[in-house]
Amino acid sequence: CATLSITMEEVKPTFDVDKAAVLVNEMRKTFSSGKTKSYEWRMSQLESISKMIDEKEKEIIEALHKDLSKPELEAFLSEVETSMATYPSSAEIVSEPLGVVLVISTWNFPFLLSLDPVIGAIAAGNAVVLKPSEIAPATSSLLTKLLGEYVDESAIRVVEGAVRETSALLEQKWDKIFFTGGARVGRIVMAAAAKHLTPVTLELGGKCPAVVDSNVNLQVTAKRIIAGKWACNNGQACIGVDYIITTKEFAQKLIDSLRSVLEEFFGKDPMESKDLSRIVNSFQFMRLVNLLDEDKVSDKIVFGGQRDESQLQIAPTILLDVPEDSLIMQEEIFGPLLPIMTVEKLEDSLDMINRKPKPLAAYLFSDDEQIKSKFVQNISAGGIAINDTVLQLTVSGLPFGGVGESGMGSYHGEFSFDAFSHKKAVLYRSFAGDAPTRYPPYTPGKQKQM
Ligand code: NAD
Repeated sequence: CATLSITMEEVKPTFDVDKAAVLVNEMRKTFSSGKTKSYEWRMSQLESISKMIDEKEKEIIEALHKDLSKPELEAFLSEVETSMATYPSSAEIVSEPLGVVLVISTWNFPFLLSLDPVIGAIAAGNAVVLKPSEIAPATSSLLTKLLGEYVDESAIRVVEGAVRETSALLEQKWDKIFFTGGARVGRIVMAAAAKHLTPVTLELGGKCPAVVDSNVNLQVTAKRIIAGKWACNNGQACIGVDYIITTKEFAQKLIDSLRSVLEEFFGKDPMESKDLSRIVNSFQFMRLVNLLDEDKVSDKIVFGGQRDESQLQIAPTILLDVPEDSLIMQEEIFGPLLPIMTVEKLEDSLDMINRKPKPLAAYLFSDDEQIKSKFVQNISAGGIAINDTVLQLTVSGLPFGGVGESGMGSYHGEFSFDAFSHKKAVLYRSFAGDAPTRYPPYTPGKQKQM
């Protein structure tokens, strides 16, 4: 390089590095305005790029020549014009397995959330190691035993253990890591994967809101909210309802309805109910009790609140208008506590949701088509269900996965196959139709033909 005599143009810095944050903020502001989502905007920008390439073809080719001494015809064929060079040909996408994959799972649906991704990995042709959660030891050891009996141990293995064992696994090079759990460990997994450029799917959690309009069928709404909260592992579910938003004037009606259906489902003393799961362990029990006992929260309980440490049980509990900066509104609840937040107008709920990290699921109960459409357009979440909770998970034609803080990548049905496959692009050519314009020397005659 020392002897290189070509004079190169240098990039003239036009970017003040101290303004990087300003730049991102400006872009975020534009994005938040909704401008980039409209069909018209997207088409106009793409058409402008096409026009730019047409009109500035000469300048582009000149710049490529300055940077790389790229011959004009080669630049035209490879960077400016959509190439005719592949005619005649056929092409196909070949799905190939990624290789040896690691599935790290969680405790709340310990069988389903372990086996479901393993099935996807096998369907796509991978070898797979499953690390179930140590917090559900009975299921973890059953999975080890059953998979040992039923499947090919040379390609499908279970490793039981906790942090030490998972850390040792994460030091290895995998071809894919599929992780279900919290965002804190998700970051550890992603950092470990980055060392080997291993792709990840992160199935995380978050605070899933349910917005309730005043025009709903109240009885059905209450039942479906309860089904998506307490009848779903007693609130210990990643897509369970975390908090409700409704209008000030409708809140009391909703609370009365939830109270009456809760009594219908779990009896007058829910602590004795056989239809409620318990809290998984003392650590989680104490975490939930701390959320409930925070000073600014404890006097906001309008229903429930009973707890029994010896049974690891907390009754279905409803709180009204806790402060937004309370712990219970800051962290994922993952338990039987349900804050109801009130707003003046239902539309204000969108801002409240959008002030928080993107949730794994968002729910809306409403009979108003305009509100439904606004909700779907303006709320970014892993998935949405209108007038129900949780059931979006059961539709195999729908992908299941998060966005932003609630995760990346998705699975279920054919999306599971895709999550564990590489889509290989393959082009088939025959020896016929070998266009000479493609090859040097790029004579004026050839240039004229283009
Ligand atoms: P977690 O992140 O604590 O643990 C998940 C897995 O990571 C476990 O197998 C555990 O052994 C392992 N692990 C824990 N600490 C580790 C560390 N320091 N290094 C390496 N591995 C470690 O999560 P959890 O308590 O099992 O589950 C609760 C979270 O999972 C909630 O946030 C919930 O929303 C989320 N979740 C998401 C889904 C989904 O499908 N998106 C499903 C269920 C639960």
